[in-house]
Amino acid sequence: DTPLDIQKIRQDFPVLDQEVNGRPLVYFDNAATNQKPLPVIHALTRYYEGYNANIHRGIHHLAELATAAFEASRRAIQEFLNAKYWQEIIFTYGTTDGINLVAQSYGRRFLTEGDEIIISTMEHHSNIVPWQMLCEEKGCVLKVIPVDDNGELLLDEYEKLLSERTKLVACVHVSNSLGTINPVKTIIDKAHAVGALVLIDGAQASSHLDLDVQALDADFYVLSAHKLYGPTGMGVLYGKKEILDSMPPYRGGGEMIKEVTFAKTTYNDLPYKFEAGTPNIADVVAVKTALEYMANLGKENIATHEHDLLQYATEQLTTLDGLRIIGQAKEKIGVISFVMDGIHHQDIGVILDQQGIAVRTGHHCTMPLMQRFGIAGTTRASFAVYNTRDEVDRLIMGLRRVQKMML
Ligand code: PMP
Repeated sequence: DTPLDIQKIRQDFPVLDQEVNGRPLVYFDNAATNQKPLPVIHALTRYYEGYNANIHRGIHHLAELATAAFEASRRAIQEFLNAKYWQEIIFTYGTTDGINLVAQSYGRRFLTEGDEIIISTMEHHSNIVPWQMLCEEKGCVLKVIPVDDNGELLLDEYEKLLSERTKLVACVHVSNSLGTINPVKTIIDKAHAVGALVLIDGAQASSHLDLDVQALDADFYVLSAHKLYGPTGMGVLYGKKEILDSMPPYRGGGEMIKEVTFAKTTYNDLPYKFEAGTPNIADVVAVKTALEYMANLGKENIATHEHDLLQYATEQLTTLDGLRIIGQAKEKIGVISFVMDGIHHQDIGVILDQQGIAVRTGHHCTMPLMQRFGIAGTTRASFAVYNTRDEVDRLIMGLRRVQKMML
C-alpha cells in the first residue's frame, strides 16, 4: 500500500478536474505525456511574470536571475541522474533531439563503413530512424535484438550480435508500448566488453525508476521533461564528459562559440558547445520544480502506487473475454497494451473517449514491434501517480460497453 494521499495529489493537477463527454475525465495516456502539477505551472508563470530574460549574455538583473535559475536546473538534473559533472548535462528539446544529437555528432565523426549499431525490436521510432539515417550516410550496419513472446529482450541473441565491429548499442530502458523494464546494466556491460558505447533511451524510465548513470556506466542517457511531470519541448542528453569533449558540435550558432571570425571559429566548452541558440529557458527552469515535486512524493512511493494499479488492472482486464495483453514481462512499469478479438483498437479508443476515458491506440511509434507481434496496433492504458483503482474500474466498464456495442 502507498502512503500517498492520492485524492490530495489529484488536487495538484487541475486538468484532471473536468468532464469529457459528460463523464469525469480518466486520463490513462500518461506514457504519451503526463499531466503537470500546479507548482510546475506556477514555475512557468513566475518565470514569465518575474524574470524573463535571455541567459548567459546579459549583465542586467533579470538576465542574472534567469541564468541562475537555468543553471540551477542543470545541477538538479545532474543530481537526478547522479552524473559526475554538471558539464555532462546538455539541454535538448527532448529525447528525439538528444538521440539525433548523438547520431549526427558522435556517429558522423566516429563511425565508418562496416561499423555496426545494435538497437532492439522494442525501440521507439526516435531510436531507430536517426540510426538508419546514419547507416545510410556512412555505410554502417544496423542489427536488432529480438524480443520473446512476453516482450522481453533475448539476451542470448544480443550476445551473438556483439563483436568487435559493434561501435554503438542504443536501447530503450523502459518500453513505451509494453512497459518492459530492460536489464540495461547487463546490456551496457556486455557492450563495453567489446568496446562499444551505449545510449540508453530513458524517456519512459525517468518518472518511474531511480536513475544512476554512474552505476549503470551509461555513455549516453536521454530523456524528455514532459514524461516526468515537466513541460513539453525540453529534454536532457547526459553524456560522459570525455566522450562529449571528443564530439564535434551538432548545431552552429550563438552561445556555442568562444570566438568567431570569418577565418576561424572556436567552440565553447561543455555543455554550451551543444546548446546553440536561445534555449527553452522557461521550461528548463520549470523542470527543476517537476523533479522536486516527484522527490517530495518519493519516487519509490510513486512506483509502488503505479505497480498496484498495474497489478489490479492486469487482473481486471483478464476477466474480459477475448482480451489479450501484449507484453507480459516480469519487470514492468504501469503500462498495459492489449488487443480485443474482433474489435479494432481505433474503435476501442473512440468508444472509451465517448465515456471520458483517454487511452492511446495505434502503434505507439513502435511499428517494428507491432510487426513482431503480428498486430497493427494496441490499446494502451498507462498510469501516473494521480490515477486510482476506481479509474481502472471505469476502464473495465468502458471496455464491456465496447464489447456490447461492437460484438
Ligand atoms: N522513446 C520513448 C521510449 C518514448 O516513449 C518517447 C515518447 N513517446 C520517445 C522516445 C520520444 O520522446 P519525445 O517525443 O519527447 O522526443
